[in-house]
Order: sequence, then C-alpha cells, then structure tokens
Amino acid sequence: MPDTTLMPIPGQIDPVPVARDITPREDGRVDLIGLPKDRIRELFAEAGLDAKQAKLRAKQVFHWLYHRGVTEFEAMTDIAKTMRPWLAERFVIGRPDVVEAQHSTDGTRKWLLRTSDGHEFEMVFIPDETRGTLCVSSQVGCTLNCRFCHTGTMRLVRNLTPGEIVGQVMLARDALGEWPKGKMDFADEETEAAYTSDGRLLTNIVMMGMGEPLYNFDNVKGALNLVMDGDGLALSKRRITLSTSGVVPMMERCGQEIGVNLAVSLHAVTKDVRDEIVPLNRKYGIEELLQACADYPGASNARRITFEYVMLDGVNDSDEDARELVRLLREYDLPAKVNLIPFNPWPGAPYACSTPERVRRFSEIVFEAGISAPVRTPRGRDIDAACGQLKTAAEKKSRADRDREAALAAAPAA
Ligand code: SAH
Ligand code: SF4
Repeated sequence: MPDTTLMPIPGQIDPVPVARDITPREDGRVDLIGLPKDRIRELFAEAGLDAKQAKLRAKQVFHWLYHRGVTEFEAMTDIAKTMRPWLAERFVIGRPDVVEAQHSTDGTRKWLLRTSDGHEFEMVFIPDETRGTLCVSSQVGCTLNCRFCHTGTMRLVRNLTPGEIVGQVMLARDALGEWPKGKMDFADEETEAAYTSDGRLLTNIVMMGMGEPLYNFDNVKGALNLVMDGDGLALSKRRITLSTSGVVPMMERCGQEIGVNLAVSLHAVTKDVRDEIVPLNRKYGIEELLQACADYPGASNARRITFEYVMLDGVNDSDEDARELVRLLREYDLPAKVNLIPFNPWPGAPYACSTPERVRRFSEIVFEAGISAPVRTPRGRDIDAACGQLKTAAEKKSRADRDREAALAAAPAA
C-alpha cells in the first residue's frame, strides 16, 4: 500500500502545507486518543449504543483516558464488565511506541518515538528547580529547512495526528508516574485547581520539538484542546508555549483559537540574513511578522511574546544586530522578551556558535534597553536533546551524505 502520509520536501519554501490523515489501522479498530469527547460519543453511537448510553460512556471513557491515564478498557472499573470487551473489540487506547529512552547527566530526558505506521519522532523533558517542561513535536521532520536546524534536514515529513501529539504528553505522564491514583468518583469531580496541584514534575509544555506547529494547525489545536480541557489533561494555557518560525497567516488564529503563549523564531534583523537562515522569511518578511506579533491576541506586558534568537558566529551576532533588534521591538511596541539560544552544532552544520563574550555583549545591549534577554542554557547536549538537534537516528546523515544520495538517485541507471 503506498504511504500517502509522507510529504516530500518541496524545496526551500513549502508552498501548500497539506494536512494528511493517518494511515488507518490494519485491524480496523479506532484509536480514541486525540479525539474530542463529542467524537467519541458519536463513535459509540455509530457502534450501536443508544444516545443516552453513548453520552454517559463517552464521559466515563474520556475521564479514564485523560484523568487516570489508563491504557486498557479492562481498567475502567465503573464500566460494566461485559461492556469492556465490547469496547476493546472496536477501539484502542494508543500511545506512540517508545523506541528508545535516554537520560542526560543533567536530568534531561529524551524519547525516540514511533507512530503506528513506522515514522520516528522525538520528545524531550527538561526539569529545572521550578518547573518541568516537555518539548513536544508537531511533525515528523519539517519542511522549512532553516539552515541551522537539524530537523529541517530530514527528507520526509508527516504531520503528527492530534493523538500522536497529545500522546507525547500522556507518555511523559506515564514515564513520570504522574497520573492521579485511586478510585474514580464522578460525584466528587476534581476541579482543575486541585488536579494541577503543585508538586508535579511536568508543569509546562512547549511546542518546540520537531516540526512547524502552525503548518499542522488543526491537529495541534485538537491536541492542545485536550491538554487544556479541564476534563482532559487540565494544563493551563498559560503554561503552554507554541513556537513558530513565522507562519504569519496562522498567527492570529493561533491566538484566537488556541490562546497559548507565543514564541517566534526571529533569529535575524535584516532581510538578507533572515532570508538565508530562515527561508520562510522570503515569503513572510520581518515587518509583516512583527506586525502579526503586535496584533497577537492575548499578548500583553503580563503575557509577553518570546523572541528566540539563535547566536551564530559572525552571522547575526554583532552589536549592530542587537541594537537593530531593540529598535524593531520598540518600533512595533511589542511586549517582548528575547531568548538568546547558543547555537547547538550538529555534524555538517554550516555554522558555529558565537563566542561566550559575544553572546554576553549582545544580551547586555538588549537588556540595557529594558528588554529581558536571558541566554538559554543548553540542556541534554550529551544525548542530542538540545534545541535544533532533534533528528532521528535513521535520519542522522550529513548534508553531504544526502547530496551524494540525491545525485545517485538522479543519475540514470547504468
Ligand atoms: N519550528 C518551530 C518550533 C521548533 S524549533 C520554530 O522554528 O520555531 C524550536 C527552536 O529551536 C526554534 O527557535 C529554532 O529556531 C531553534 N533551533 C533550531 N535549530 C537550532 C540549533 N541548532 N541550535 C539552537 N537553536 C536551534
Ligand atoms: Fe522547522 Fe523550526 Fe527547524 Fe526551522 S527551526 S527547520 S521551522 S523545526
């Protein structure tokens, strides 16, 4: 069967990002993870339950899935014993498969995951003193080819489904042992406040793993709705940040329909440099991007937009660049914080990281203008878990390797 879920990289700029459906399961059962509660109710009705039963069962099952984290229908103890095999015959509770789990010396954890149709992607958990952040992927690979990013060199791309996206958060809860325990009691429904009580390891989510989340808008929205739903994973939208390389036409919808914090991968302040390192800039330029940030629904001084800026030696790291950054942020009157990311090298990368003195000086200039500009500490470097290093083992080939392969493939057969 041809794999219709793959998107070949069409060139420097992806012209039409197409949402692809997941390949259906061979056994015909439907995975419930990633579906809204209403859809589950519909499926139960289509499978033969009457309307009232379907509604009740959907509510119960949803609670077990997202509040309790169960992975077997058999564990749903308030559902009749005879009903549980009926459910198991028709439905599954999916999780991405874990291919490999790695633990860094600094506590960072990385998981190599696989979709049911065999595509690999990664997620990373970064604990620090005050929070635990899960870095979630939105696509297998990325079509945008930013020149400093390892993920952007992957050849094939597939959008992750809502289930595969929310499934990452659920897997992390599995691994961290963070599902509420004990008997389920509908009469005494937990409130969101009680549910997200302190002491959890996983407190924040960033859509900063593999892929461009705004090129997979519907699936990311569906997944984050389940994450934010008080009956779902119940994580506040204030604890979720979505990072985009600047897909301007989707930014307003992101603010309006998802409502999470926004991070923007700016990385350069002149057209020439940004065109080179973030090719999407040729489509949506810096001015347009900053205007979309100024218009971002929900941004305020209390909820600032994060501007990510990767420090590339001799490319975008001069004093003049720093001053221009300040000027631009002021011109658009942006409630901004700047996150300076030391470039994380990967084999064959065409850049080097700026020197520590350069990074410090850059940070000072922005900071002296009254804009916070911390330098992000690279985490999990020993397990290739740092920003921009995410790329699955099978795809870890240098650009030279790929060019050689492409040349061979293009050559007429001898
Ligand atoms: N596609 C989205 C989100 C994923 S990338 C985006 O580009 O915003 C998350 C962040 O890591 C982005 O700011 C990205 O530019 C940055 N990044 C990518 N490669 C990097 C590298 N090699 N070193 C440091 N940061 C990198
Ligand atoms: Fe894609 Fe983001 Fe990497 Fe650019 S930086 S290639 S948009 S994942």
